[in-house]
Amino acid sequence: MIGSCLCGAVTFNVKFDSLKAYQCHCSLCRKQTGAASSCGTVVHVNKFEWLSGESNISAWVKSTGYTSHFCSSCGSSVPNKFRGNPYYWVPAGLMDSENIEVVANIFVCDVASWSQVSTSINPYETRPEVENLIAQLCGDTYQANQTYGF
Ligand SMILES: [Zn+2]
Ligand SMILES: [Zn+2]
Repeated sequence: MIGSCLCGAVTFNVKFDSLKAYQCHCSLCRKQTGAASSCGTVVHVNKFEWLSGESNISAWVKSTGYTSHFCSSCGSSVPNKFRGNPYYWVPAGLMDSENIEVVANIFVCDVASWSQVSTSINPYETRPEVENLIAQLCGDTYQANQTYGF
């Protein structure tokens, strides 16, 4: 499954035919995306491959660890290493396939009053433990580094 940024400079391959994703309703993701919520997933580093544009990526890291990586040309959110874990966080909207299923909603405590994004599927008031989220998204059993960075 190929993913690409808005301008096409950054491209990558996720070695799955379908993906499970989560929606995050936190205020940081709202700022980061400019939308009511973000939608992303995580994939193991062995299942991820950069195809182009890795040198064209800029990063902003909040003191708490929240990280935003983006294409330096078009500003699209792009994949980044899932802090301290052998996984990439991947923004679902970059995938050039619609074979994506939302399986969880996190930080529903923080949903914008104006949001029309449904939180009905598997809602978490804040977030599940990292290994729980990885298990739901990837089916992997993994003892995660708990640094989340919200
Ligand atoms: Zn771009
Ligand atoms: Zn968030």
